Amino acid sequence: MVSAMSESLPVIAALPTTWLEQAEAELAATVWPRFEAVCHATTQRVVEAMIAHRLGEEHFYSVTGYGHNDLGREVLDAIFAAAFQAEAALVRPQMVSGTHAISLGLKGALRAGDTVLCVTGPPYDTLEEVLGKRGDASQSLRALGVRYAEINLIDVAEPLAIRLDWSAAEVAQMRAARMLYIQRSKGYGLRPSLTPEAMKALVTALRATHPDAVIMVDNCYGEFIGLEEPTAYGADLLAGSLIKNPGGGLAPTGGYVAGRTDLVQASAEVLTCPGVGADGGYTFQLTRTLLQGLYVAPLVVKEALKGMSLAAWLFERLGYAVAPRWDAPRADIIQTLFLGSPERLQQVCRLVQAHSPVNSHLTPVASHAPGYASQLMMAGGTFMDGSSVEWSADAPLREPYALFMQGGISYSHTRWGLAQMAGVLASGG
Ligand SMILES: *Cc1c(COP(=O)(O)O)cnc(C)c1O
Repeated sequence: MVSAMSESLPVIAALPTTWLEQAEAELAATVWPRFEAVCHATTQRVVEAMIAHRLGEEHFYSVTGYGHNDLGREVLDAIFAAAFQAEAALVRPQMVSGTHAISLGLKGALRAGDTVLCVTGPPYDTLEEVLGKRGDASQSLRALGVRYAEINLIDVAEPLAIRLDWSAAEVAQMRAARMLYIQRSKGYGLRPSLTPEAMKALVTALRATHPDAVIMVDNCYGEFIGLEEPTAYGADLLAGSLIKNPGGGLAPTGGYVAGRTDLVQASAEVLTCPGVGADGGYTFQLTRTLLQGLYVAPLVVKEALKGMSLAAWLFERLGYAVAPRWDAPRADIIQTLFLGSPERLQQVCRLVQAHSPVNSHLTPVASHAPGYASQLMMAGGTFMDGSSVEWSADAPLREPYALFMQGGISYSHTRWGLAQMAGVLASGG
C-alpha cells in the first residue's frame, strides 16, 4: 500500500486562526456531550462485565497446545458476550479479519437450500466473494448451495435512514429467507450508516415480520457508538473486527462473533471443527491485550467520533460535501469526504500519512488488496497494520472519489493532523 518515496511535510500550515476555535466551540455545544454520555454508559457495561466474571491475573496466561481449559479464553468470550449484550461470544486471534468473522457467522447459520437476504443493499466489497456474488471460490456460500438476494431498505433521508413501508413483494421475499442480513455501516457505499435508533427500528420490524429468521448484523465500525448493541433489539448474531472499534487500538489482530449460543457455537465449529468448537485453540498470550483493548474501546470510539466530527466541520468549511454533517448524529466512526478528483483524494491520503506516527515518510499509492474488486488507496500510519480504529483514510479508486476517513485513537493527534491538512487545503495547496 505504500512506496518508499518521501515528500516533505509542510512546516507551518496556514489554517485560518479562528477555524479550530470556532469548530470546537460549536462541536462542544452540540454533538460532543452525546459522545461523552455514551462513553460513560458503555464503559460501565464493559467494566461491570469484567467484575461479574471475576477477571483476574490468572486469566492472562494462555494454555499451549490444544488450548483445552484455557480459563483466559473462556473469560474473554464471556466478557465480550456481556459487553455485547449477547448470550455468547467467540473472540479469537485466529480470525483474520472482520470478513472472516462474518463468513464464520454466515457459514455456521446457513445450509444448502437456504436463502440469505441482505436488506441494506449491496454488502461490503469483501463479502461479495464470500457470498459468491463475485468470483468462483469453491467455498463461497453460492458454491455450497446457499442462495443470496438483496433488497434495499435504506432511505437516504437522515437521520432515521431506513424505510419501513415495505411492499408485499419485499415482505414475501423476507419470509422466504432463512437469514436477514443487515450491514450497519456504509462500507464504501454512499448511503448513510444506520444509527442505533435506525437499527432498533429495523431489527424490531424484521423480527415482527419474520419471527423465525436469523437476523445477522455486520457490526463493523458500529460497536459502542450507541448505548446498546443490535443484540439488545433482537438481532441474533453480530460479527466484526478487532482492529476496528472493539479492539480499542490494542488488539493486534482478530475478530468476534456474538449472539445466540447455538449460532456462536456453529461459528466456532466452522472456525475449528465439530467436536472442538470453542473449546480449543491457543490464544498466543493475547488475552490481557484483547481485554484491555475492550476496556478502552468505548473511550477510543469517543475520541474517534470527536475527531471525525471535526473533520466534517473543517471539510465543509473548505467547501466539500461531507457525510454525515458535523452536527448530525453519528452511526459509526467513518467520515465520508467527497473530494471530487483522484488528485485531491491522493493529496488528502498523503497528508494523513505524513501526519501519522508510523511510516509518515512513506507515500500511499493505489493498489490491489485481497478481497476487493477495485484498486484501493489507503493511508494509515498505524501501529497495527491496516488498523482503521487508528486515524486512517481509504478509498476505492472510482467515481465519485469519496474518501472514507476514520478512527483516531487520540483526538489531540487527529485534531493536529486535520488542522495541518485544512491549512494546506485552505491556502490553495
Ligand atoms: C471493515 C468492514 C468489514 C470487514 O472488513 P475486514 O477488513 O475484513 O475486517 C465488513 N463490513 C464493513 C461494513 C466494514 O466496514
